[in-house]
Amino acid sequence: MAALFNNVYGLPGTAAEWDAAGYTADSAYQLRMTDYYASLIKEPSAQDPVARQGVPRGEELSTAGEQDALGEGGHEPVPGLLHVYSERVLLLATDHCAVNCRHCNRRWRRCGRRLAAQDSTVAGWLDYLHGRTEVQEVLITGGDPLTLPHAVLEDLVSRVAALPSRPVIRIGSRIPAVWPERVTSRLLRSLRGAGPLYLHTQFNCPAECTPEAAQALGRLADAGINLGNQMVLLAGVNDDVAAIAQVNRWLVRQRCRPYYLFLPERVQGTAHFQVDPWRAVAIAEALRLQLSGIAMPTVVVDTPNGGGKVPLHRGALVARDGRVGIRDLLGRLVWLP
Ligand SMILES: *Cc1c(COP(=O)(O)O)cnc(C)c1O
Repeated sequence: MAALFNNVYGLPGTAAEWDAAGYTADSAYQLRMTDYYASLIKEPSAQDPVARQGVPRGEELSTAGEQDALGEGGHEPVPGLLHVYSERVLLLATDHCAVNCRHCNRRWRRCGRRLAAQDSTVAGWLDYLHGRTEVQEVLITGGDPLTLPHAVLEDLVSRVAALPSRPVIRIGSRIPAVWPERVTSRLLRSLRGAGPLYLHTQFNCPAECTPEAAQALGRLADAGINLGNQMVLLAGVNDDVAAIAQVNRWLVRQRCRPYYLFLPERVQGTAHFQVDPWRAVAIAEALRLQLSGIAMPTVVVDTPNGGGKVPLHRGALVARDGRVGIRDLLGRLVWLP
């Protein structure tokens, strides 16, 4: 199908050029962008790091990999609440995002399900959490919770913060990177009832490190919110030591601490983002040699069924029969793509 999206989002280049560069309008997981993020796209090229993250490629139609690669669906005692590790709970507050990242590991949830922080949903979550005093931290994620209406967000955050265990709240959101204008004083006000608040975002490439994004991070930090970054190592986007180092140095200056660098998961439709695990180790070692400890994220592989986020280093990898695996934190061998 001819690429028509370039007109809708005012992208540079012609439909024929987008087609020729391997992009498509055919993905079941639809294209969704902000004008701001579209403005960071420089050219209709398979190597444009922002286009690659935001515009569907033909490779997405491949059925390699699994949908729920982490087996999250098996740990969902209440719809939209994931409880895999005893001290931490994830709330999928919405399935909506400002930009549909092409490497999304929860893209499968977008097909046919709608979750939003409706009153009855929230009541079910709070019911579940009420007696569970072991829960230290509640991660509000999705989807992107900072796309929720202010009143809904404010209500959710304050009700979670008021639980008997007084959990620390961590919000997972790409808003600072993809829609920085969204970080307004009204948005900050809706987060005031949270108590100690952490916000983990996702900056992946130097093109995302703009003055607008810096301003958004500055506003969040000035409001007393602790900022972290969860980067994903993506082939053709940031599988490059200099690019990752540059982003992380910039983040530190914005008072946002690099937290994780993830290997991408084996989620269906994302095979073209996979980075060879040995190459990922080489990147991690080179980064560790040059970056300050403050600028260095923990490089991890997330493993299915509660196996944990396993720190990646050469000693952690197991090579056997031409395949590469890693031992998860429960001692099980997990094969990598
Ligand atoms: C990643 C994840 C968390 C949070 O892990 P941290 O290491 O604390 O960042 C919690 N629950 C689930 C199911 C996760 O996948």
